Amino acid sequence: MNSIDRIDEYAELINSGLNDDGCGCPEEEWVMFDTYVTIHLEPDNCGHAFYETEEWESEEVFDVKTMLELRAATAARLAEIYSTAYQESAQ
Ligand SMILES: [Zn+2]
Repeated sequence: MNSIDRIDEYAELINSGLNDDGCGCPEEEWVMFDTYVTIHLEPDNCGHAFYETEEWESEEVFDVKTMLELRAATAARLAEIYSTAYQESAQ
């Protein structure tokens, strides 16, 4: 793990302290690596991340207990996605 300690270098918090209109779970909105991300923490230690860019949209689920863990898991996953994409395009 290298990059998640310095989340502020590539991530910007847009909104925190939100609550989903439907289920009331806590949510935050971020821009990480130029990807718009909504993270959503369910009470059963289930964290959802919804990714949205101009090119693609996706959703993933992480096994996390806190919003801090969910932020870190999401940032680490996006770092992985973008470094993979970066290597592929460089070949
Ligand atoms: Zn929910």
